[in-house]
Amino acid sequence: MSGKKPVIVVRDLYVNFYTYAGVVKAIDGVSFDALEGETFCLVGETGCGKTVTSRAITRLIQSPGRIERGEVLYYSRDGRVINLLELSDEELRRIRGKEIAYIFQDPAAALDPLYTIGHQIGETMIEHKTVKDWKEAFMKAVHVLKTVLMPDPERRVKTYPHELSGGMKQRSVIGIGLSNQPRVIIADEPTSYLDVTIQAQIMALLRKLKKERNMTIILITHNMGLVAEMCDRVAVMYAGNIVELGPMRRIFENPIHPYTRALLRAVPNPLTKIERLESIPGIVPNLIEPPPGCRFHPRCPHAIEKCKKEKPPAVEVEPGHYIACWLISGKVGGEGG
Ligand code: SF4
Repeated sequence: MSGKKPVIVVRDLYVNFYTYAGVVKAIDGVSFDALEGETFCLVGETGCGKTVTSRAITRLIQSPGRIERGEVLYYSRDGRVINLLELSDEELRRIRGKEIAYIFQDPAAALDPLYTIGHQIGETMIEHKTVKDWKEAFMKAVHVLKTVLMPDPERRVKTYPHELSGGMKQRSVIGIGLSNQPRVIIADEPTSYLDVTIQAQIMALLRKLKKERNMTIILITHNMGLVAEMCDRVAVMYAGNIVELGPMRRIFENPIHPYTRALLRAVPNPLTKIERLESIPGIVPNLIEPPPGCRFHPRCPHAIEKCKKEKPPAVEVEPGHYIACWLISGKVGGEGG
């Protein structure tokens, strides 16, 4: 691992959803660190738990979901280590939106149709008392819109969401997230509703802001092109577990876990040339009754008896590169993070 300090540390996180059909064991003991000034990506197929994990960091899990156990430690600017899962709602509100901001997947749903963009950016600053009054809030909202490269920000600050294009809505949502100069941005598929040229602009913008402000970005995506372009380190998720975690280049060039290998053969890999894409046999398991042992075992061509009974621990195979697979832990031994 680099000499960078951790900003968010997630340890042994479990999240369940209590549905009429049964208890969905959505997150099953997830652990990772996001470091100062890095972009850390959570990747995997739909339903693997990346969005739930990211929402659990700031306790945005809604009923019927529940965080069962674990720790989410935030290393604040003033040197405190705070377990976000133990804060009162009021204490958490002081951190959420100010020090840790969340950019939601669907900008249209994230914006309130009844208020102007300036009002919605200003409201976050008013709430966290980073401005003294609404006059200052509107002035700063114009500045925020300039930062996110919104065309004609003086005019756009007075417009309503329905008057904006998809790219402008996404810039506004990023603007709300950035308004209090957060230390951490959690961006959940921030460009999935945008066309490719706007996607590239938004990503370039996030990269620039990260560099200028030494921000930590936790990026949730299924798009491997984005991962290759944006990420320093990657955690690959499958059925509520992290199965492989390491530096982006190592994961792309030398994927080790059978699921990561299958995933990278199934999607266009920007760093290697694969002639033909392959699908992953089988289906994502039902997490009401997840497979025992390694949750990937029904789809894994290398599964052995032990895989069906015991969950593999994460093992460090090279500095900062962790794999949770019995084939590897049999060779290496010991647990990692
Ligand atoms: Fe496959 Fe077993 Fe490794 Fe799971 S633990 S990925 S089933 S070999």
